[in-house]
Amino acid sequence: GAGRLAVVGLGIVLTFGASGCKEPGPTAKASPSSATKGQLRVTCTIGMIGDAARNLGGEHVMVTALMGPHIDPHLYKATPADHRALLEADLIFYNGLHLEGRMSDLFVQLARKRPVIAVTQDIKPELLREPPEFEGNYDPHVWFDVSLWMSAVETIRNSMIEHLPAHRDVLQSNGKKYLDELAVLHAECKTRLGIIPKERRVLVTAHDAFGYFGRAYDLEVFAIQGISTESEAGIKKMNDLVNVLVERKIGAVFVESTVNPRSIEALVQGCSGRGHPIKIGGQLYSDAMGAEGTPEGTYVGMVRKNIDVIVKALQ
Ligand code: ZN
Repeated sequence: GAGRLAVVGLGIVLTFGASGCKEPGPTAKASPSSATKGQLRVTCTIGMIGDAARNLGGEHVMVTALMGPHIDPHLYKATPADHRALLEADLIFYNGLHLEGRMSDLFVQLARKRPVIAVTQDIKPELLREPPEFEGNYDPHVWFDVSLWMSAVETIRNSMIEHLPAHRDVLQSNGKKYLDELAVLHAECKTRLGIIPKERRVLVTAHDAFGYFGRAYDLEVFAIQGISTESEAGIKKMNDLVNVLVERKIGAVFVESTVNPRSIEALVQGCSGRGHPIKIGGQLYSDAMGAEGTPEGTYVGMVRKNIDVIVKALQ
């Protein structure tokens, strides 16, 4: 529903649209029924999983990712076309940890007749974040610690081998190649973000998608909304954040590709009202990759682009 937000004492009143989500962008979906003989039909939720499945399976899989650019997975409901893509799939992957909060009943139903796998299932619980404001639940945004996402990629690879045993060797070798690329990316994140001076290692975003990222690459993370975009952006949270930004003289905040920028714009106004001008450092890809065919339309490209934006704004 629409949440009304006021920044007390600053005279800023905002109204968000449906929990701050952007209009869904166009999504190009290939139907899994167009799979050629012998191909495994794989249907995934978020693009990051689809990208991994394509890298691993190559010509042996027909991958459909349901959620395209700008789609917020916390709020996403399956369309009739999605239902078809799920029913026709040989193998279904989703993130899990309640990321796809409005699809959980559907996964339970689908799992009665076909393999439905949460790609985060093999990550050790002690490596998962359990934020106090999301009590009893783990933070689902594991893809922003590249080393954790490597575990998800292994889970995807293992399931694909199980369902395509004839192509075990190629899946193993593609898996090794992709995991090596991710190991390089993880090291690159550390090196490149490492140049940001200590006092500026603060990442402020619209919703709390960067907890694992901050933990892995040593940045302090603040967000207006919680782990799910379904949570309301509270007045107190907004005022607290303005205080943090003013007191610590933080110069930049970031909008997200899957969240309405208005809450971040309000934060900028709030700081300006306190005599501390801050800028919007750019847009980060949070819960969806960029457009297909662009560098950001892949997992590796999306992470790299975020690093470019963060380093440029904070260094
Ligand atoms: Zn999120």
